[in-house]
Amino acid sequence: MPSEDLAATHVLEFPGGYTRTTGPVIGRFLTELRDRRLVGVRTAGGRVLVPPLEYDPDTGEPVTDEYVEVGPAGTVESWAWVSSPRPDHPLDRPFAWALIRLDGADTALVHAVDAGDPKAVQPGMRVRPRWRAETSGHITDIACFQPEVTRIVAPVRAEYRVTPGKALTRFLEGVREGVFLGGRCSRCVKVYVPYRISCPSCGTLIDEEVRVADTGTITTFAINNLPDPRAPQVPFVSAYILLDGADTPMIALVGDVPAQEVRQGMRVRAVWAPPEERTLSMDNVRWFAPTGEPDADLSELEGGA
Ligand SMILES: [Zn+2]
Repeated sequence: MPSEDLAATHVLEFPGGYTRTTGPVIGRFLTELRDRRLVGVRTAGGRVLVPPLEYDPDTGEPVTDEYVEVGPAGTVESWAWVSSPRPDHPLDRPFAWALIRLDGADTALVHAVDAGDPKAVQPGMRVRPRWRAETSGHITDIACFQPEVTRIVAPVRAEYRVTPGKALTRFLEGVREGVFLGGRCSRCVKVYVPYRISCPSCGTLIDEEVRVADTGTITTFAINNLPDPRAPQVPFVSAYILLDGADTPMIALVGDVPAQEVRQGMRVRAVWAPPEERTLSMDNVRWFAPTGEPDADLSELEGGA
């Protein structure tokens, strides 16, 4: 999707877009921006439009005069990567134009996301605004949005892709039973978790299913300082965990331990949802909690980061 189209559809352009159309509704939005607040306007039907509009785009009816504070954080719905920014773009390095739905809003606005790398942008990615030092009641008072993870201890890569289908279903069936299933490649003799159909290294069809333990070792982690509905508390930790018996780590939350005590090599065990609450999803694993065992030596772990 070309970035120009994305921007034009949603009335937000840089640098001058809003100023020419400033009516009472947009005016209120911009005034709040100057004070570093984001507001939407409620429609007669109860939806919250951000950026606010004078008329409900669905019905053509005038909106109400109720303004609702939203965000400041939000979720990326879609994006277009800009690898060669132009002089009038908000950032002078590659960035994403993204449709961002701010928390509490029913519509999305377009803004720049300073994600560094196109591979870092994903649907559902959580972002929050980076405000300019000086605000003037203009959309560019938000310099850009940035990913919510505020401190990365070690690089976190999307190591595995979720490929819906037989292998993932089989893995999730295991998770529903409280078991992690891996697949062993007969050629590499490595055990991949989650279970998959073909070996990511050599492409060999995997036909041996193995159960791995629900205990493992943290190889890499990131501390997240903002709330997430899945997380036990804030700050929370997401980590790569190498399960005992597996050769590749999986991503999970770490809980029942203060974030600052989490470390590489820490031994952890899955905390399972009670059987009656389980579904065919990773939600069955609440998080991983420390076992209290001595730390593992990462250099001795084959699949370690
Ligand atoms: Zn292989």
